[in-house]
Amino acid sequence: MRVPLLAGNWKMHGNLDDARNLAQSLVDNCTDVGDREIVISPPYTALESVKAITAGSPVKIAGQNMHWSSSGAYTGEISPLMLKDLGCPYVILGHSERRQYFSEDDSLINKKVHSALEHELVPILCVGETLQERETNRTNLVLEKQIRGGLKGVSVTDPAKIVVAYEPVWAIGTGKTAKSEQAQEVHCFIRGLLNDILGTDMAVKIRILYGGSVKPDNVDELMNQPDIDGTLVGGASLKAESFLRIIKFVPVK
Ligand code: PEP
Repeated sequence: MRVPLLAGNWKMHGNLDDARNLAQSLVDNCTDVGDREIVISPPYTALESVKAITAGSPVKIAGQNMHWSSSGAYTGEISPLMLKDLGCPYVILGHSERRQYFSEDDSLINKKVHSALEHELVPILCVGETLQERETNRTNLVLEKQIRGGLKGVSVTDPAKIVVAYEPVWAIGTGKTAKSEQAQEVHCFIRGLLNDILGTDMAVKIRILYGGSVKPDNVDELMNQPDIDGTLVGGASLKAESFLRIIKFVPVK
């Protein structure tokens, strides 16, 4: 019922040639992916080139972040209209690196979520606990605050309009992945929250991605969990070979 979504976040890596080559390899090798959705999120400077390369292929593009205003005097920012202009259907919001290094909090992220929805961009809302929060048994509390805060005042009736990504901060870029059962437990908790906030019909259909050191050798097990509907991948999405293997995960369900 939930179409698997495999997303790659390229962060601030590579030059234009790298982006073009990677996008081309993905397009060339993604002709037979069936009912999977593939999204890549290159740096802003490469979006236009990558859009041209991916046009007509199953590979879609996403912004890594955006401002909440459609335009204005916000030096250095990118607006939702600009992302739309470049052909992005998706935008990653509230990534832990934005929260950690750029002080983005739930109310700011909430403004961006509203703006994305108003501009018909699908927000990929990232949430996740730090190691200290997990070790002090605050995982659920933290996630509840992030999800309720991020989705405050949001009312959508189309489940395709929102994606949630659970990314434990301690697993991002560290090589430590949450055990698949551990991730499933959290995904189940998040689905319960979505049920409370948006209703059952939405909660059962919204996709919840897992992110945090997803690699070719752990993707099958993660995707085997009933509430894991896709992955948000950093490091392993920078090489065509590893991201293609992730895209082509082997379902055991
Ligand atoms: C991320 O940054 O969203 C991420 C999951 O990174 P990595 O896959 O490198 O842990």
